[in-house]
Amino acid sequence: MAEAKIIRADTLGEPNYDSPLKGQINRFYNGEAVACNDRTKDFADLESIDDIDYFELAGPREKLFFNPKNVTVGIVTCGGLCPGLNDVIRALTFCSLQSYGVKRVLGFKYGYEGLVAKYYHYPIELTTDNTDEIHEKGGTILKSSRGAQDTDEIINTLIHYGVDILFTIGGDGTQRGARDIVEGVKKRNLPIAVVGIPKTIDNDIDLIQRSFGFETAVEATWDIITNAHSEAKAYRNGVGLVNLMGRESGWIAASASLANSNVNFCLVPEVPFDLHGPNGFLQHLKTRLQNKEHAVVVVAEGAGQNLFDALLGTNKSGNKNLNDIGILLKNEINAYFKAENMEANVKYFDPSYNIRSRRANANDSMYCLRLGNNAVHAAMAGKTNMIVGLHHDRLIHLPIPMVGARKTIDPQSWFWQTVVQATHQPAQMANS
Ligand code: ATP
Ligand code: MG
Repeated sequence: MAEAKIIRADTLGEPNYDSPLKGQINRFYNGEAVACNDRTKDFADLESIDDIDYFELAGPREKLFFNPKNVTVGIVTCGGLCPGLNDVIRALTFCSLQSYGVKRVLGFKYGYEGLVAKYYHYPIELTTDNTDEIHEKGGTILKSSRGAQDTDEIINTLIHYGVDILFTIGGDGTQRGARDIVEGVKKRNLPIAVVGIPKTIDNDIDLIQRSFGFETAVEATWDIITNAHSEAKAYRNGVGLVNLMGRESGWIAASASLANSNVNFCLVPEVPFDLHGPNGFLQHLKTRLQNKEHAVVVVAEGAGQNLFDALLGTNKSGNKNLNDIGILLKNEINAYFKAENMEANVKYFDPSYNIRSRRANANDSMYCLRLGNNAVHAAMAGKTNMIVGLHHDRLIHLPIPMVGARKTIDPQSWFWQTVVQATHQPAQMANS
């Protein structure tokens, strides 16, 4: 039987300073943990509940590593847009300045470029005045970028501006970059904390229950699917085709299909499908049109990559360049029904940027505030090399080296079976 262990974030050293939150709040977190097993097990397989690991809970610590009044905080946003970025920037700024009274907060512009001197993107000083309304808009006031930057140069900039704590708001690439900064900082023996706030609209980080912006994204799909349905119903054999985000996991497409169950086909990366043949998607679409004269199809951008002859390599960030499944489906549906001598009217919706650039909804805003505040609590206590995130409904510190695995939809799960049931699509649309 394996020994249970508590998984903790790295720390820079002994916390010796009293938290200025003393008196403001009546509860500190110092030694609590949450079980890190979110997989269900058959009772028979459950040898012992003791072999489950635990994650350290996030929350304000009574003793701090940093003396707040001497602290300079840096914030950077990298990668693609996601609803809630400005909310996180605001929460980090307010919590640092108002709750802890740090010396100053610097916003580095254009992602990691802003931490490399040769780009001349000077940081801006963030205050409670200039950030108080930023959550009312989408995007990121700090701007963003992709592309690799030199870690040593980034650390030189941190030293130059006297940054003690760096908050990295971004996706998998950003947190890999954060890990490199942690390693560089360790090598140079510098007391700099690096804490990430993970950003992925696709909600695809393993162990993290929900990422900020995901819920806003799903909410935004509701109207789009309704409109696709209206378009589809307005024409003979209308097909409302909606291309949604989801590079390697189809959480948005699947959740959108459950939220607005006018969807008849939901195509996700986790469930490969064929286009042609007796059990291919096009045959099933034809049957649907023959029966109902309209159909709504939702496809995640990473679905159906098996249909393309060759992958197109990687982009500047090292992400796989995906073939455009939305355009392929649109063309294939048109060509198929033409060959079948059957009228079909495809209306194509590709709302990706419309969704990514939205402001966060209320629940995501609340989540962003909690993530931001807890990232500050962790960093002030000297925690580093970690991200904050929700796990089993509790905010935890997840060590960056544990970030990496994708959370994907298990086609055998009840969740996916519910999608199959709600759409009434065949469980398999493959010929072999
Ligand atoms: P998105 O969800 O939009 O892909 P992301 O954070 O993954 O967000 P990227 O463009 O991949 O976005 O990366 C953002 C930054 O992180 C880039 O500036 C890049 O230099 C850095 N980065 C990406 N991959 C690595 C890596 N393997 N090692 C170090 N830094 C990296
Ligand atoms: Mg990425």
